[in-house]
Amino acid sequence: MLHNTNVLIAGAGPTGLTTAIELARRNVKVRIIERRTKPSTRSKALVVHARTLEFMDILGVADEMVKRGYTSPGIDFSSSSEKPLRANMYGLDTRFPFILVLPQAETEAILESRLNELGVEVERGRSLNDFRETETGVTSKVECLQDGEFEIKSQYLVGADGSKSVVRKTLGLPFEGDSYDWTAFLGDVQLDGHEAEGGTEQHSSDRGLAFIVPFSDGSHRIVTIDRNYQGQDTRELKIEELQESISAILGKQVQ
Ligand SMILES: Cc1cc2nc3c(=O)[nH]c(=O)nc-3n(C[C@H](O)[C@H](O)[C@H](O)COP(=O)(O)OP(=O)(O)OC[C@H]3O[C@@H](n4cnc5c(N)ncnc54)[C@H](O)[C@@H]3O)c2cc1C
Repeated sequence: MLHNTNVLIAGAGPTGLTTAIELARRNVKVRIIERRTKPSTRSKALVVHARTLEFMDILGVADEMVKRGYTSPGIDFSSSSEKPLRANMYGLDTRFPFILVLPQAETEAILESRLNELGVEVERGRSLNDFRETETGVTSKVECLQDGEFEIKSQYLVGADGSKSVVRKTLGLPFEGDSYDWTAFLGDVQLDGHEAEGGTEQHSSDRGLAFIVPFSDGSHRIVTIDRNYQGQDTRELKIEELQESISAILGKQVQ
C-alpha cells in the first residue's frame, strides 16, 4: 500500500472535525492535520439551530452541546415603536425545540473529544503546504513545526482549511459570493442595564440593528449594525463605542 491513510483532512475547524468523525464512524482510515498548535478559544459561530443539533445527535455529541450551552426559547424582535414579537421555538417538532447558544471553541472541543473516542487525534502544528494528484490518490506536502516538511499519501484529500484554503487555491477554484458592504460591531461582554428576557433578541431603531445573545456563563454576544458607524475598515473595537452604539439603538443607557 502506498497510502499512509485513506483520507487526509486539512483543517480541524467544525467542518474538518465533523468530516473526520463521519469517516471514523464508518471505519475509514483518516488523518486530520491542523496548522494551529493549540485549540481555538474564540467564540465565533455561537447560534446552533434544531436541524444542526439533529445532525450533531447522529454524531453522538448533541446532548453534550446542550449541557454546555444556553438554551434560548426563541428570538424576540423589537423596535422602538412596537411591542416585541416573539418567534418561539418550543412548538417545533424536534428533540431540540430551542436555539442553542454555544461558543464555537466549545463546539470544536466537543467534536474533538468525540473524534478522540473514535481513536483519531488531531495532528496539531502541521500545515498543508501543497499537494499533487497521483495515479493512486494524492501526495500532500505538510510542514511540521518540529520536523520540517514531509509527505502524506492518501486516496483522498479533504480541504477543510477555511476561507483562505490552500486546497481551494491550489485547485484554482473560485471563492464564490460577495462581502456585505456593512460595518458591524461585535463584542462578547458583561451587560449592565438590560435584561435579555426572551433569550436571544433583535432590536431595531432609527440608529440601526442590535443583536443580543446570552451565553450560559451570564455574558452576552452583542452585535450592532449602526448607521453612525458605517464605511469603516476592520479594526479593534473600543468598549465605549460598543456601549454608545447599543445604548443608542435600545434607547437607554447600557454598559
Ligand atoms: C468573529 C466571527 C464571528 C462569527 N460568527 C458566526 C455566527 O454567528 N454564525 C455562523 O454561522 N458563523 C459565524 N462565523 C463564521 C464561522 O466561524 C465559520 O463559518 C466556521 O468557522 C467555518 O468552519 P470551517 O471548519 O469550515 O473553517 P475554520 O473554522 O476557518 O477552520 C479551518 C481550520 O483550518 C486550519 N487551517 C487553515 N489552513 C490550513 C492549512 N494549510 N493546513 C492545516 N490547517 C489549516 C485553520 O487553522 C482552522 O483551524 C463567525 C466568524 C467570525 C470570525
